[in-house]
This record gives sequence, C-alpha cells and structure tokens, in this order.
Amino acid sequence: MSPLENEISTDSIDASCDAGPIRILIAEDDPTSCEILKVVLGEWGYVVNAFPDGASAFEELKHDKGYAVAILDWNIPGLNGIEICEQLIKTESLFTYFILLTSKYGLADVIKGFASGAHDYITKPFEPEELHARVKVGIRLYKMHHQIEMYASSMEQLANERAKQLLHADRLSTLGVLSAGIAHEINNPLSFIQGNNQFLAVCWPAVKETLSQAHTIGISNSDTEIFCEEFESSNEAIKKGVIRISKIIKSLKQYARKESGERKPCSLVQLIEEALLLCSSHLQNSIQIDFDRSADFKIYGDLQQIEQVFINLLVNSADALGDYSLGKISISLHGTDSEVTVQISDNGPGFSDVVLKNLFTPFFTTKDIGKGTGLGLSICEGIIKEHGGSIRAFNNTSHGAVFEITFPYRSGESA
Ligand code: ADP
Repeated sequence: MSPLENEISTDSIDASCDAGPIRILIAEDDPTSCEILKVVLGEWGYVVNAFPDGASAFEELKHDKGYAVAILDWNIPGLNGIEICEQLIKTESLFTYFILLTSKYGLADVIKGFASGAHDYITKPFEPEELHARVKVGIRLYKMHHQIEMYASSMEQLANERAKQLLHADRLSTLGVLSAGIAHEINNPLSFIQGNNQFLAVCWPAVKETLSQAHTIGISNSDTEIFCEEFESSNEAIKKGVIRISKIIKSLKQYARKESGERKPCSLVQLIEEALLLCSSHLQNSIQIDFDRSADFKIYGDLQQIEQVFINLLVNSADALGDYSLGKISISLHGTDSEVTVQISDNGPGFSDVVLKNLFTPFFTTKDIGKGTGLGLSICEGIIKEHGGSIRAFNNTSHGAVFEITFPYRSGESA
C-alpha cells in the first residue's frame, strides 16, 4: 500500500461534514497543475470544482458559500489569487479556507499573501502529503467555524426565548403590583357599600315596624310581607358579597406584597382556603373541590410564600382540567411527629414521561406562548426547599396528577 493510499483510508472521516462531502474549489490556469490537484484531492475523497480563471472562481465563491477550502493560484488571469482573497474576506457570512498556490516564497510575498486574507500558502511544485496536511487544517477550521455558527445561532434563539419569558415574568410581577393598587382602590367604594348595608340593617327593624301598619293606609299585608322578605334577603346577599370581596382584596394584597415576610406559625387549612379563594376565577364551577379540612397543622413559615405555592399548584390543576366537566381537585393533609404532608391531586391528564422529568426545570412549559412561563413549579420548589421541605410529583394510579409537599413539623405546633 502506498503512503498515499494509507492516507486516503485513514482520512476518509475528514472528507465529509454535516452538510455532506467536503467541497474544494481550485482556481488554476495551468492545466497540468490543475489536473494533479483534481486527481489527488479527488482520491482523498473531496468533491472538487476547478476554474481556469480568477473571475469565474470569484463569482462561484461569492455565490456558493459551501466550499471548505479554496486553492487559488497567485498568478491566475482575471482576478489573481490575492485579489480574490482581498475581496472575499470582507464577505461576512463566508468562511472558506484560502490556500494560495505560488512559486513566490520571498518573505515580502508571504506577508503580502497573509495580508490579503489568505489563511495559508503552498509553493509549487508541491508535495501531495504537504498539500493534504494543509487542506486538513483548513477543513478542521471550516468545521469548527460551522459548529461555532450553529452554537451561536442556537444561543441567540435561546436568548430570544429567555428574553420573552423574562418579559412575561416581569409583566406578571407588574400585574401583581397593579392588582394591589386596584385592590386598594376597590376598598374605598366597598366600604361605602358595607357602611350603607350595615345602616340599612340597623334601620330595618324600625322600618319593618312602620310597614306592619301599612294596611291602615290601604296597602295589603301580603304586599308588605313580600317586600320585607325580599328586602331582608337582598340586604343579606349584599352583606355576603361584601364579605367575599373584602376577603379577595385582602388575599390579593397579601399575594402582591413581594418581599419575603417574617416567618410565623401558619395554619395550612387557612392558607389553602385563601389560595382557593384567590384562584376562584380560575377554578370554574365545573371543577369540584374536595378539600378534607378534618386535620389542620400549623407549620412555621412565610405565609405569602406558602400561599403562593398552593396558588401555583391549584392554577396548574385547573389548567390541566380545562373545561373537563367532571374535573376534580382533591386536597388532603396528613401529619406525623416529624413532618406534615399536603397532597394536591387532580383527575386531569397527568404527566407524560418528558413532562415529569422536566417539571421543576425553570422555563419548562407545555402551555401556549403567553400563557405559561414555566416558572411556577420551580418557584414552588424553591420556596418549599427554603422552608426545609420537599415537593414531588407523580401520576395517580387511576388518573391524573399528584403533587405531594412535605414540610418539617415539630410536635406541639399542631393547630
Ligand atoms: P407553567 O404553568 O407556566 O407552564 P409550571 O412550572 O407551573 O409552569 O408548570 C410546568 C409544566 O408542568 C406545565 O406547563 C405543565 O405541562 C406541567 N404541569 C404542572 N401541573 C400539572 C398538572 N396538574 N397536570 C398536568 N401537567 C401539569
């Protein structure tokens, strides 16, 4: 086996890249040199395209950016090798490794060649092994350039996605601040309604007494009775509505308060109740809430943060259930001497393997753009870990998703 054949077999890996076989352009007007180049390069497994003049080689390189290496004769007619390099080196998206083929080897010529933008040079007559070694350097750089380009483009794509997600997260936090402001604004008119509602309730016995005499002026007793019933039930309904709005506003204000609050004993049942209230617009009527309140536990923690965990989990369950008419969310609490476990499960679709694997990865979401940020569960995990607890998720044996949160618990803290 000749040394050349040996080279061919071991370097065949070099002769291709992701885009297919490696392509090499030759610009050489001397037919003999051109033929030798074509033969050796072809034997090494490269796809070769040869041009007898500089102008056509330049046009080809300008329009076809897929050449890994260009071997350019320094003294080719039309545009010479140096001129081709000088003009193409300014083309931003092009990376072709330029090798000048020259009979010049004075220092000044070498410097001039590199200054034109050429990456390497080889003197005529050349040794095939030397040419191959130089071509391989070019191919290595060409491949590296393409890998960097691909990496840069995927990084750019990732950066754009992250920027959008951060913008969304920022909008959400702005929304939190805004909602605190709106809650404050609603509080004022709400207190008028509440005041008047109480005023009517206080005055009502006297008014009712007066109305009981209405038959003396010709109004039938049955009419006044109907009116009294309706008045009482309407005023009671207003009172209930006011209480509900005040609760929502209170929770909204607490939720929007961003700073991490002090830690104190908090009742899990109470926190879950508040979270349910806050999510009431998400939890449509079709979703049945099965909350076992029989056991309550007090854990030591940051009220707002833990409430946020429950909100995130409830909203996710509601999203997973969509408009499923038999949707159900079950919540239960269990405790031992050392820990308290909260289980929130739903009878939605549950998790696929991929989703289960990535649930707590920041920015992982299967929701539509603009709906999901992929931050909810990683925030939950962070909060729970800060409280010394843990969170895990699994598919229900029958159907749906289960989230299980465990908080450390010391006996004597029970509610
Ligand atoms: P986001 O809700 O913004 O997508 P999360 O981190 O809260 O971000 O959730 C990540 C993903 O986990 C969701 O997009 C969804 O695919 C999945 N997921 C969370 N909760 C449930 C659930 N109860 N049922 C099914 N999939 C869920």
